Amino acid sequence: MSAHPDNLPPPYEGGCACGAVRFRVEAPPIGVRICHCRICQKAMASPFIVQASFPKSAVTVTGETSFWQSSPRLKRHFCPRCGTRVTIEPADGDRLAFPLVTFDDPAAINPEMHIWVTSRIPWIVLDDGLPQYPEASPEPYRTA
Ligand SMILES: [Zn+2]
Ligand SMILES: [Zn+2]
Repeated sequence: MSAHPDNLPPPYEGGCACGAVRFRVEAPPIGVRICHCRICQKAMASPFIVQASFPKSAVTVTGETSFWQSSPRLKRHFCPRCGTRVTIEPADGDRLAFPLVTFDDPAAINPEMHIWVTSRIPWIVLDDGLPQYPEASPEPYRTA
């Protein structure tokens, strides 16, 4: 699947609610996923997370973060001052993900698919026409 045609071009900038953590991305996303899994629900205190992934080499993060290792393969970084969950870092890939709502323009990038819809909360109605996958995405991340 290719990037959404209506995405604004990079660079993208964003950060946490208090401004202590900021990030800048110099490349288009390699995957934009809405995850309904229970860990994302709990970690984000939200019914789902919408996150864009980028090649690590295209990303600069400034400011101190703490992290929670939610699984052997995933660290979830957050601002220790305001608690915003800013960065998701997989151990098994050269990429970083950021929630779309942490971007200065939260509408600059569009989601591409729903994953882990087996744990979708029933009152979340999906009528956006995007592909829905019961568990993890069968589609690999794009190469930059
Ligand atoms: Zn903060
Ligand atoms: Zn998830």
